[in-house]
Amino acid sequence: MKINKNYLNLKENYLFLTISNKVKEYKKENPKKKLINLGIGDVTLPLPKAVIKAMHKATDEMSNKTTFRGYGTERGYTFLRDTIVDYYNKKNVFLNNEEVFISDGAKSDLGNILDIFSKDNKVLIPDPVYPVYVDTNVMDGREIIYVNNNIENNFLSMPDQNLKCDIIYMCSPNNPTGNVYNKDELKIWIEYAKENRAILLFDSAYEGFIQEKYLPSSIYQIEGAKECAIEFGSLSKTAGFTGVRCGYTIIPHEISYNNISLNDLWLRRQTTKFNGVSYITQRGAEAVFTEDGLKQTKENISYYMKNAKIISDVLTKLDIWHTGGENSPYIWFKCPKNMNSWIFFDYLLKNANVIGTPGAGFGSNGKNFFRFSAFCDEESVVEALNKIKNIKIDA
Ligand code: PLP
Repeated sequence: MKINKNYLNLKENYLFLTISNKVKEYKKENPKKKLINLGIGDVTLPLPKAVIKAMHKATDEMSNKTTFRGYGTERGYTFLRDTIVDYYNKKNVFLNNEEVFISDGAKSDLGNILDIFSKDNKVLIPDPVYPVYVDTNVMDGREIIYVNNNIENNFLSMPDQNLKCDIIYMCSPNNPTGNVYNKDELKIWIEYAKENRAILLFDSAYEGFIQEKYLPSSIYQIEGAKECAIEFGSLSKTAGFTGVRCGYTIIPHEISYNNISLNDLWLRRQTTKFNGVSYITQRGAEAVFTEDGLKQTKENISYYMKNAKIISDVLTKLDIWHTGGENSPYIWFKCPKNMNSWIFFDYLLKNANVIGTPGAGFGSNGKNFFRFSAFCDEESVVEALNKIKNIKIDA
C-alpha cells in the first residue's frame, strides 16, 4: 500500500489552531479579562423561523409511513432544484433544473469537483484566498499558479494574458477581503477563461450579502459564463445553515470539453460517491426561498451588515486602509505601521482584548493585513471598536 504522498506537501493548518492557543494562553494569564471575538467565520444568529417550521413539518412527515422518504434523488429533490431555478430567474439567469445539484455545502463540492478534472491541469489561485482551493489541489498534486491580490489592484486581480491555465478559482464577494468584482471585470475573466479553454470555478457563498444592485451576484449574469463557469452556492452564511449543511452547484449543459459534458461527468461522480442531502434539510432549504424565508434571511443579513458598517466607520475614522464590509460580512484592513499580522494579533489581544484573524493565514499577500468579521452581536462590536479607538492603534 502506498499513501497519497501529496498529503505530505500540505502546510499545517496553523491559523485557527494558533489563534485558539494564543487566546487560551492569554485567558490563563488574565482570567478576569473579557475578550471579544471579531474573528469568527461562523454565523451567530439562529435559523430563520420559516426554515424551522418547514423542518418540523418534514420531520413529522418522516414519522408517518405514507409520507416517509428514504434515499432521495442524486441531484437533490426536484422541489428544491425548481426553487433555486426560480431564485436565479429573478436575477435574470435562466437555468434548467438538471443544471442544479444539491449538496451538503459549498466546501465539499469545491473539493470534490476536482474528481472530474485531470491532475495535470494548471490551476490559477488568488493570494490571499480561502485555503480550501489550495489544499484540495495540493492533495491531487496539481500545479498552482498564484495571482497577487494587493492594495495596488484593490485585492481584485485581473487576468494576465501571458499566463496560461486550465482551472481558475474566484470568490466574489470574497473571503477574506470582502471585495466584489463588478460586471465589466468579470466579463474580462470570462473572456480570458474562454480563450484559454479553462474552467472558472466561481464561489458565490456570500452572494446574499450583496447590497448594491448593480453588482453581479451570479457569474451567469455575465455573457458567455454558461460555457465556461461552474457556480458554487451555499446557504451557510446567507441563511444560517453552517450547522444544518446545504448548498448547491450549478453546471450548465453548455459546458463541454471535446464533446464531453461536465454536467454528465459530475452526475456520474455524484451518483457513485454521494447519496444526497437529507429530506428534512432540503425542505428547510426550500423554505429559505419563500417570501417569509427571504424576508427573515434579509433581516439577519442586515443585522450583520450593520456590524460591518460600525467596523468600517471606525477604521475610516482611524485612517486605516480597509476594504470589504459593504457587500460582504468581512472587513480586510492594513495592520497599523505595516505590522506583521501575527504581531498585530498579539497587540490587539493584549491592549484591546479583541480577537481577529491575521491575514497571513490566507496567503503571503495577507502578511500585513487583518480580517474582522461582522458575525457577532452588535453590542460586542460596539464595545470592541470603542476599545480599539482607545488604544494607540495608529501609533
Ligand atoms: N466558500 C467560502 C469562500 C467560504 O468562506 C466558506 C465557508 O467559510 C465556504 C465556501 C464553505 O461553505 P459551506 O459551509 O457551504 O461548506
